[in-house]
Amino acid sequence: MKILAIANQKGGVGKTTTTVNLAASLAHLGRRVLLVDLDPQGNATMGSGIDKSKLKHTVYTLLIGESDVAATVQTSEAGGFDVLPTNRELAGAEVELVDAEQRETRLKAALEQVAGQYDFVILDCPPALNLLTLNALVAADSVMIPMQCEYYALEGLSDLVGTLKRIKQHLNRNIEIEGLLRTMFDPRSTLSQQVSDQLVKHFTSKLYHTVIPRNIRLAEAPSYGRPILAYDKSSKGAQAYLQLAEELLARHNPQHSVQPV
Ligand code: ATP
Ligand code: MG
Repeated sequence: MKILAIANQKGGVGKTTTTVNLAASLAHLGRRVLLVDLDPQGNATMGSGIDKSKLKHTVYTLLIGESDVAATVQTSEAGGFDVLPTNRELAGAEVELVDAEQRETRLKAALEQVAGQYDFVILDCPPALNLLTLNALVAADSVMIPMQCEYYALEGLSDLVGTLKRIKQHLNRNIEIEGLLRTMFDPRSTLSQQVSDQLVKHFTSKLYHTVIPRNIRLAEAPSYGRPILAYDKSSKGAQAYLQLAEELLARHNPQHSVQPV
């Protein structure tokens, strides 16, 4: 079981879009996937087709020990993966857990309940380096960092890298940067191209070959509660996330080879 956190404290860079569509793409390729929504906005929950207003148990009740994974887990019918869903309640976790013991390892402990049941667990982080993101980074084997191909893309990256270093020293020796993902790339924009070139220059080996293009279908799909594969499989966005899943699998299992683009 591989636990992958999708994190960047910058808002609106494509974390949730990547989480939902990577989960669906890996499921499409036959992998058993669990998505964990760690953002009180609940966007990944809704985007997976689960109504966040109708939840009895959530990641919040899970983290404070009022429910276990079995009672909390839901299924995304459209996506073919399982979900630990979230709603606004989770915003209270930060306060609630402030004096709690092992407050950073709550998620890690919870996921031990499903060890071996999934091939991939994908964690959608909120846009902050807060206790919820910390729980994700402590539980994860690696982190994928979506970067929007626009000005200031690199802003804040050093804070995230610094946080990762501290986590590696104190809380999770195994955490690795899985890779940086270029999102919302617009091939007609010179700026998009320049930022992308800059990322290639700085992060060569850590950068995914796959680039996620700006694609309106990706922005539309969540309002139907569907990952892009179930909304418009032939769209550029769907094809890109499928390619990302294949690239991820190839990195973890070199026998599963794909052609880099
Ligand atoms: P937050 O920090 O608020 O959690 P986020 O990093 O999770 O945001 P998303 O919610 O995935 O970012 O994306 C932000 C907005 O951009 C959303 O409206 C989403 O539909 C849209 N979007 C994401 N990726 C793309 C894309 N490749 N093409 C077009 N629109 C996109
Ligand atoms: Mg999000």
